[in-house]
Amino acid sequence: MRCPFCNSAESRVLESRLLEEETCLRRRRECADCMRRFTTYERIETVPLMVIKRDGSRQGFDAAKLSQGIMRACVKCSVPAAEIERIGLDVEADLSKRFVREVLSTEIGALVLARLRKLDEVAYVRFASVYRHFSSIEDFIAELSNLREGALS
Ligand SMILES: [Zn+2]
Repeated sequence: MRCPFCNSAESRVLESRLLEEETCLRRRRECADCMRRFTTYERIETVPLMVIKRDGSRQGFDAAKLSQGIMRACVKCSVPAAEIERIGLDVEADLSKRFVREVLSTEIGALVLARLRKLDEVAYVRFASVYRHFSSIEDFIAELSNLREGALS
């Protein structure tokens, strides 16, 4: 890191401090030549995860937005808001472990459904109806019987 005053490449670190929930490192440096001080910031480079939607368009993954979608499906259900928020974060953590850059929206839907299924059946079916675009009452009934079979197995 060159000194902004004299352009020297030599500097020493006087102090390092983690900022912003430890994702940013601030360093106070002193130029070895002109002795003037300056500050540098080091950050983790994050590659945003892209979601491929049904229509083929791409959008950055947003855990908060996902939680809102689940929240809508869970209106008047017994799932506490904190649990719903956790689903969004869990799914995000799950996806980041796979080291993929792109994911299909239907895969995300499946991850959410697997978690909702354990929490609340009504929320599960509602969310499934949104994610799988139920086109008829038959689809809805088919999903309900899948759910029942799942509960028995
Ligand atoms: Zn300097």
